[in-house]
Formats: sequence, structure tokens, C-alpha cells
Amino acid sequence: MALGRLTINLDAVVANWRQLAGLVRPAECAAVVKADAYGLGMQPVAEALADAGCASFWVATLDEAVALRALLPRVRIAVLSDQVEPNIRELTAHRLTPVLNHPGAVAAWTRWAAPAAAWLHLDTGMHRLGLSPAEWLALSVETPDWRAAGIGGLMSHYACADEREHRLNVVQRDRAVTAAQTARLRLSLGNSSGIFLGSDFRGDVVRPGMALYGLNPTPYTENPMRPVVTLEVQVLQVRAVAPDGGTVGYGASATASPGQVLATVGLGYADGLHRALSNRGRLYFNGAAAPMVGRVSMDSVMVDVSHLTREPAPGDWAEVIGPNQSADALADMAGTIGYEVLTSLGARYARTYLPAGNG
Ligand SMILES: *Cc1c(COP(=O)(O)O)cnc(C)c1O
Repeated sequence: MALGRLTINLDAVVANWRQLAGLVRPAECAAVVKADAYGLGMQPVAEALADAGCASFWVATLDEAVALRALLPRVRIAVLSDQVEPNIRELTAHRLTPVLNHPGAVAAWTRWAAPAAAWLHLDTGMHRLGLSPAEWLALSVETPDWRAAGIGGLMSHYACADEREHRLNVVQRDRAVTAAQTARLRLSLGNSSGIFLGSDFRGDVVRPGMALYGLNPTPYTENPMRPVVTLEVQVLQVRAVAPDGGTVGYGASATASPGQVLATVGLGYADGLHRALSNRGRLYFNGAAAPMVGRVSMDSVMVDVSHLTREPAPGDWAEVIGPNQSADALADMAGTIGYEVLTSLGARYARTYLPAGNG
């Protein structure tokens, strides 16, 4: 039996998508469901979003796209970061739209798949993927007709959209908008945080991921999204430390004080509880914080429950992510970001999907 229960609220995912779709209108709101929908399950998430009217999905790899196509025969599916030339046949057979990141990919697509329309990725300052400004200029000169060359739109990606005042946001926006206007191509620009930079930072198609899953796209202020994930895990054992005291966990990194009550809880770093939370993180019992003591193990972690009014017993449930501790807050304690917390959630939890209403 699973020691943890992971609840994923599809109604909240759908509400988050509707909120963003309303905010960006008349731009189109797609959904990024790469990496198994950020660890939450691509099938239930994508099906709920498609039912709600989402018509465009973005994934990272060809394999993800082929799996999604089998579930949703009619939606648009774009592939962000896979090879293009070796995959041309599969891409076209499954009616997938690749993102063309470099000149070789553009040449292959134009030669073998045009006039089927792909996204052309312009690197506006992140230096990760996409055509450099010089490559874009050269391509523009030699391409009289984008449609005929198999290019249906231009996309770019912000490096610092979660920092509202970062100067790179305007620089990237201006480069992308200028290129799209000159070429008269549709533009896809905003990720979750980019959407919140304002209407002129979004382009014609936005690509939110994290905000759909309840993470905060505006870390400089309160989270405008509905929480999606709840994670609770059972207590395995409770002990009171003997009068001679001792130490707790691997490496004896924490002191066990006489009389201290420790609960051992059944999740560890193999379940996505980052080891960096050792001696730092917290779990919650009925709203009361229980600090982690000692190092996080692979399958368990110890917390101090001495001060709780009701001492937990084996089989009781501790909140890991929920009303008292968001995925973002847990990530912060671990020195990482909510994306990594969600995509690290292990396979050992019993998963429950709360269905989306039809409202
Ligand atoms: C992952 C990704 C997104 C989604 O980003 P969020 O910050 O999760 O909204 C959008 N565009 C690209 C290119 C991505 O790689």
C-alpha cells in the first residue's frame, strides 16, 4: 500500500487555464504539458484541458507528442525541443508541429515537409535554443514566402519573465515583435510569467505551463492561481528520545534531546522530498508545523512533534504540500523552484484525480 496520497485537482487546472485564456483574449491560450504535465500526469491533464476547449498543446519531445496525439486526435501539438530531420516522417504522420531551433532544422523541414507549417524559434537573448539574430536575418533574406517554406509562425522564450523589472524582458519582447511584424508571422511569446508582464508581452499565442499547475507565475506578489496539488504522507513510527539523548539520522547531523518526540514519516528523496530539506524543511499536522530533524533519507524523514497538542501515531497523515505549505514554499525551503518539486514527485504515491466540473 502506498504511504502517500497525491491529489491532483483537475478542476483547478481547468479553472487556471480558463483564467489565463480570459486574461489573454484575443490571443490564444495553449497549454504546456511536457514532462508528463510537470509530473502531474499528461493524460488526465490534457484530456481535461481539451474538454474545456484548449485546442493547442506544447510538449518537449517527439515521444511525448506521439503519446498525446493518440489521446487527442484533433488538437494542435507542438514539439519544443527534439530533433527535426531524423523525425520528419513521424512528425508529419502524426500531424505534429515542430519548433525549428536551428538552420539545419529549417532546411530539413522546408525540403521535406513544407508547406506543413512549423514554428520558427528566434533566440531573442536566452542563448538556449533558436536562431541567432544573424541566422534569422540570413534566412529572412533568402525566404520570399514563409508559407511555402513551411513556416507558420515565430516563437521565442523569455529568460527572466518572473522578474517583472528585468531589462531583458523588454529587449526580448522588442526583438520578437519586430521580427514577427517584419515577416508578417504569428508570434508565440508568453510563458506563464510572461503573460503577467502585460498584454504587449504575450504575442498571438501564449504557452503557460506552471501556472496551470498552481505554481506562482508572479513570485513578486501573491499567487493569482488556484492550488492544484495536495500531498499527504503517513507516519511510520513515533518515539520519545531516551534520557541519555543521541543523534538523528544519517551522518548524525542533528541532536536528539532527552524527551523530544520524533515522528518518522514515509517519504524521502526518492519521492521528491529534496535532500536539501534536511534539518530545514517542515511537515504539517492539522495545521501545526513539525520541523524536519536530521537528513532526509531515501524513503523516510524524521520530524519533531514534541510541541504538538496531539501526538501523532503510526498511520496518521502529515501534509507535505497543501493549504499550509505550497509547492513553491516547499521548493523555497529546499533552495529550488516549484517546477522541480512537481517534476520530482515520485511514482510511489497513490494518485487521485479530482474531476473537472463542466462549468
Ligand atoms: C517549458 C516552457 C514553457 C512553459 O513555461 P512555464 O514557465 O511553465 O509557463 C513555455 N515555453 C517554452 C519554450 C518552454 O520551454
